[in-house]
Amino acid sequence: MITQQRKLVTELPGPISKSLAQRRVAAVSSAVSGGSDIYVAGAEGAILLDVDGNQIIDFGSGIGVTSVGHSDPRVVAAVTEQAASFGHTCFMVNPYENYIELCEKIAEVTPGDFDKRSVLLNSGAEAVENAVKIARAYTGRQAVVVFDHAYHGRTNLTMAMTAKVSPYKDGFGPFAPEIYRVGMAYPYRWPTGPENCAEEAFADFVGQVHIQVGEQHVAAVVLEPIQGEGGFIVPAPGFLAKLVEWCHANGVVFIADEVQSGFCRTGAWFAVEHEGIVPDLITTAKALGGGLPIAAVTGRAEIMNAPVPGGLGGTFGGNPLSCAAALAAIETMEAEDLPGKARRIGEVLSARLTALATQFPQIGEVRGRGAMMAIEIIVPDGSKAPDAALTKAVVAACIRRGVAMLSCGSFGNVIRMLPPLVSDISLIEDAMDVLAEAFAEVLG
Ligand SMILES: *Cc1c(COP(=O)(O)O)cnc(C)c1O
Repeated sequence: MITQQRKLVTELPGPISKSLAQRRVAAVSSAVSGGSDIYVAGAEGAILLDVDGNQIIDFGSGIGVTSVGHSDPRVVAAVTEQAASFGHTCFMVNPYENYIELCEKIAEVTPGDFDKRSVLLNSGAEAVENAVKIARAYTGRQAVVVFDHAYHGRTNLTMAMTAKVSPYKDGFGPFAPEIYRVGMAYPYRWPTGPENCAEEAFADFVGQVHIQVGEQHVAAVVLEPIQGEGGFIVPAPGFLAKLVEWCHANGVVFIADEVQSGFCRTGAWFAVEHEGIVPDLITTAKALGGGLPIAAVTGRAEIMNAPVPGGLGGTFGGNPLSCAAALAAIETMEAEDLPGKARRIGEVLSARLTALATQFPQIGEVRGRGAMMAIEIIVPDGSKAPDAALTKAVVAACIRRGVAMLSCGSFGNVIRMLPPLVSDISLIEDAMDVLAEAFAEVLG
């Protein structure tokens, strides 16, 4: 049992973490980097226990994965039972029931009251790749439209779809062709003000696609309904609905990449629900497996069934252990009303961050939905110039105090909050106290 509280018994990182960091340098590629230097020995609920005995508040959930909490009892029981029964056969070779059961369950919880089908995969990037394959097979077209600040993964096709070069694409080209990038409806940085953002960004989209791509060549528009790695950018209200309408008028498949925003994180089951839209295809991963690797593409049956038989699949996709974990995780989301918990966490985060922003003008904007909140950090001279150095220093100060905080953003100037949705409110409050102390320390 790990008590649900922050407790430091050494400096962070502690001596055992430091010795692991040395071993790591000699064994692990230096290209796998970033994050903290604190090594985990165990985790429960919203607390990480490190190898030196420190208890750290998890505000990243392994990048939005452990929404149901670490070692969720339902997930642990389901995986243990499945492991003792059988661990792998490959669904394409020797099929089994829980793959079907999970596809049924995802069809039930995703938006859209039409006939749905799913394919199960291993990672978010693989889900996005497959969604593009499916949209191309269905439309007989090749072009894919993506947005500024987008993050869709690190495989060859998804690198092309991801906006930021460094570190995701640096030195890794050539990239996949037929990917076209257009502007994002980013209210905080919209030149003529947030109130004009949705309309003007949509007009730009229509014009750019018409001139540079041709509507008749577009297979899919792919969009994160709240952008994750790009900076927790919430598109201007109404932008998504206009895009969906345009897609349907032009025979284009609208794909919502809900790999980070999906499965209760934003206070709804899926972030598209806040905008009242229904995507044709939806990609999910991260929180779906309750900590085990699994991903899905789900959508309209006629689109999902378009590729040739055998055209989709993979050795491990929908592995029985991961399916068992995902079914158990979804059960926890339902039984414990995790959308409601996410909204409650969001209220606390929003109140605390807004108060902090009045104290520190370096916080240019507080934004997000539910338990997917962030602050954008700027130079407070009226320029809104991003301040990545301050962001980095504040995150480091949080980590030293035992709160595992993450940054993000195209300009490296956003601190994002992704606590497990089962976090006690007292932990959220404690983490906000720590964030305030971190700002005071770094700016003081
Ligand atoms: C994390 C992420 C991906 C990639 O998922 P992986 O499992 O890391 O491949 C794709 N899209 C979005 C929106 C993500 O946040």
